[in-house]
Amino acid sequence: MSNSILSAQAVSANGLHSNGVASVTPLPVGLGARTAVVMERKVAHDTTRRSEAPMFLDTAHTVLPIEFQGKEVMFEAHAYEDDSVSYQAMALVHKREGAKLEAPLVRVHSGCVTGDIFHSLRCDCYQQLQKALEKVVESSHGIIIYLPHHEGRGIGLVNKMKAYAAQDRGLDTVDANLSIGAPVDARDYELAVKILKDLGSTEVRLMTNNPMKVDALRDLGITVVEQVPHVVQASRFNQRYLATKRERMAHKL
Ligand SMILES: [Zn+2]
Repeated sequence: MSNSILSAQAVSANGLHSNGVASVTPLPVGLGARTAVVMERKVAHDTTRRSEAPMFLDTAHTVLPIEFQGKEVMFEAHAYEDDSVSYQAMALVHKREGAKLEAPLVRVHSGCVTGDIFHSLRCDCYQQLQKALEKVVESSHGIIIYLPHHEGRGIGLVNKMKAYAAQDRGLDTVDANLSIGAPVDARDYELAVKILKDLGSTEVRLMTNNPMKVDALRDLGITVVEQVPHVVQASRFNQRYLATKRERMAHKL
């Protein structure tokens, strides 16, 4: 890789040169128009950040129609980037026109590739996400915050699969994590709380069975006016997992 490409990437990563001055570096041959757009956006944003100190490194929003239970449903979709590209999240907001806005029904959902995308039966993530979508769509005001970096309760996909392999040898979900040197739960909720504040929703009805999630949000300044149980049907593959969440992680199941 040539020096010119390295220096261009250093600029595009944070939008600023080491002296803190935003400037536009000519693109090296081989970096296309898309990179140029990204660089301009980062430079412009960081210039703003110094004066107004926004909560996020970057944000975007649009309308997102989804197919849900055979119907088209429209959401406001907000994307957020905190301090790195690996620390991003999405919020889907559903508001019914004309309805009196109360504390929104909120689900803070930890991303799960195996569950959410492939409908794995080893956990309950897919069912919980579907249930959350159903309740949010039925509500006059609901929000789903999706946190991809919470994969495997925050230990990442590879560690989660290692922990699954440890469970195959007889350990439960808590001891499996510990056996591979990973924390039982590495999730933090700072980004979720910043998103709720950005959306003007500091009072929420939180769909969760996890009292620690309620405490985490409260500690960061969110008023949880109601903890809404979010129990789903167990399968023969996740019975032990759910029992461990109930018995060793204080989930209300
Ligand atoms: Zn899962």
